[in-house]
Amino acid sequence: MSQFKRSVYERSIYKEPGPIRDSENPFEAMVERFDVAAKILQLDSGFYEYLVTPSRIHITAIPVMMDSGQMRVFQGFRVIHNEILGPSKGGIRYAEDVNLEEVKALAAWMTWKCAVVNVPFGGAKGGVVCNPREMSPGELERLTRRYTANLIDVFGPEKDIPAPDMNTNEQIMAWILDTYSMHAKRTETAVVTGKPILLGGSRGRREATGRGVMTVTLAAMERLGMRPSQCTVAIQGFGNVGSIAAQLLEEQGCRIVAISDVSSGYFNAEGIDVGAAVEYSAAHGNSLEGFPGAEPITNEELITADVDVLVPAAKEDQITRHNAPDIKAKIIAEGANGPTTPRADDILNERGVLVIPDILANAGGVTVSYFEWVQDRQGYFWTTDRVNRRLDRMMRTAFDSVFDVASRHDVSLRIGAYVYAIEKVAGALRLRGIYA
Ligand code: NAD
Repeated sequence: MSQFKRSVYERSIYKEPGPIRDSENPFEAMVERFDVAAKILQLDSGFYEYLVTPSRIHITAIPVMMDSGQMRVFQGFRVIHNEILGPSKGGIRYAEDVNLEEVKALAAWMTWKCAVVNVPFGGAKGGVVCNPREMSPGELERLTRRYTANLIDVFGPEKDIPAPDMNTNEQIMAWILDTYSMHAKRTETAVVTGKPILLGGSRGRREATGRGVMTVTLAAMERLGMRPSQCTVAIQGFGNVGSIAAQLLEEQGCRIVAISDVSSGYFNAEGIDVGAAVEYSAAHGNSLEGFPGAEPITNEELITADVDVLVPAAKEDQITRHNAPDIKAKIIAEGANGPTTPRADDILNERGVLVIPDILANAGGVTVSYFEWVQDRQGYFWTTDRVNRRLDRMMRTAFDSVFDVASRHDVSLRIGAYVYAIEKVAGALRLRGIYA
């Protein structure tokens, strides 16, 4: 048995859980939740191993001629977790600390996320180890094009479809589209999603993840008998997901009392003017630092602020066993991927906090990415209203389905979401059988 198989198996449903940690290897954090769901589903050991193991891992060296005339070689990853339900789908992250374990976890989360919202895709994720803030647009373009060219046989509208993630954007998707199209000798818009509308992007894609967070938060409030107009909200991270979720929840009548980004955090018990904060951040290089009309708070204070709803929308491992006991929110809607560690989950469950897990709460992005792919393939583009109505419906259906599964098995929404997703993917695998 390989090293990898042993590490998965030793903590599997057939053995005792491993030692208690709180700073998680993200892939192991994924496996830890998978284990609980697999046990509930009484998943056969062969299926267990198949579903937890990434189907393909690509590691590629990306030489880039820098503006200085010096060549640098960057490391890139693309992990295809599985393609049982359809072509694999997942963003590409540019970051100095991105690593294979993180990309493996994110790829697996994409598999479960697509299954939760009933989107016919498998899961994948990509990453390039680089600091995009220190690179010129020309260097970023050359890096992106060479990464795409190195993976040209991996990507494809019916094979593997990238999208933006941390530090990648519409422009980077446009370069991927163009590079792929040059190799294919035809314009292939459906090879990426999250691209500019002018190149076949979808209306509503930019707002989709924040909108999905809003929809499931309202659904959770309804279940708990809370009225939006009587709810206060704290939002960590004020980028795409956090700022849009803040705007849309404010529109629904909630009072946004705390916001933060990597630079600073702000609290105002009377409610923060979210529109003013968005304008301030845009005018100050995407930074809230110095935002007037609210008291400065730390990110740690924001997490434990006295609010009804907490939306972590920044990065992984923000809610840990250290701050989970002090969290006052009744609902946590995970805009970010992996913001809560498994140890924190246990504490929040015991304390009765309703956590809407990432694979449900932030699935609005991949849902509208699916709409974008469908529109590109049809060559027929929808109105914003049609996109938003269909997104709201799919998110609401996913929330209700996960809630029912969780209630039936008397588990958290997170485990309910895993059970719901794994059951679907395992069912498809059973029907397809194993090609020998
Ligand atoms: P983004 O880069 O637009 O915004 C990230 C925000 O988090 C920024 O305001 C940044 O300053 C802030 N931040 C970073 N580190 C922080 C820290 N330590 N403390 C407080 N704030 C911090 O990214 P995004 O697209 O909004 O993504 C945020 C999270 O949502 C990520 O986990 C991402 O994987 C996840 N997500 C995004 C999408 C999407 O469609 N954009 C979809 C699904 C999941």
